[in-house]
Parts: sequence; C-alpha cells; structure tokens
Amino acid sequence: MNLTTISLGAYKATVDNSIAHNLVRADTALYDTTGQHIKVNQSYRSTKTQAELYKNRKPGQRVAPPGKSFHEKGLAVDVTNWKEAEPFLRKEGFLNPLADDKGHFSIGEFSAAKYKQIAAGGSMALIVAAGIILFFLMQRR
Ligand SMILES: [Zn+2]
Repeated sequence: MNLTTISLGAYKATVDNSIAHNLVRADTALYDTTGQHIKVNQSYRSTKTQAELYKNRKPGQRVAPPGKSFHEKGLAVDVTNWKEAEPFLRKEGFLNPLADDKGHFSIGEFSAAKYKQIAAGGSMALIVAAGIILFFLMQRR
C-alpha cells in the first residue's frame, strides 16, 4: 500500500497510488460535464478506525469487520453525490454493486462477473415484483 492524498475541488481523498489516477480522471470528467466534483466523504481508514466504526455500527448498517474493508487498503471511496458520479467512476473501473450502500465505490473488491450477477439479481427481483402486482391487478377484474 502506498497512500496518496488528492484534492477533488474542495474534497480530499486518501487512496492507494494504484487507483489515484482513476479517481482524478473520473473527477475531471464529472467536473467537465456537470461542474461538480466527486464528493468523497470517506476514503482510506486505518484498521483501528475500521474497528471503532464496526464496534459502533447501527443495526442494519453495512460495516465490514476490521481487516476486511477495502477502505483499509486505500482502494475504496464513499461518495455523497454518487448518482451523478457513478457513470464517470464506473468508466474508470470503480464498482458499486451494493444495493444498500450505493455510495461505496472500489476497485478490485467486486469481480465483473459477480457485479453482473448482483445487477441481474436486482432486475430479476424487479420482474418478479412486477409479475406479482400484475397478478393482483388481474384478480380484481
Ligand atoms: Zn465504503
């Protein structure tokens, strides 16, 4: 791990050198298109910080146990304006397949195949839900 701190407008991110350029490129592209920067509110975390976060997590809150988070490797960022930033981050190899943590983007954590699986799972659930609704609507006639 070789950490570096980069500035994205007023926002700072501490990440591993191996992904710093990807993050800067995504930020530049987002800024050129929308005039806003990637709003990073979490990046590198020490294992000590991760342990505290894990200990104090709220019910239902997704927090990896210490030693298991990509934030501890400097390979993950949490983004506030993820909706706007998502296509630009994806283009640079960052993935965010967690339905309950859409602002979490990382490189190397999720395989492309796994990502497609999760995405397909999401569409499948949507199709099933639509089917159920349609079934009940038909019953009412
Ligand atoms: Zn995260």
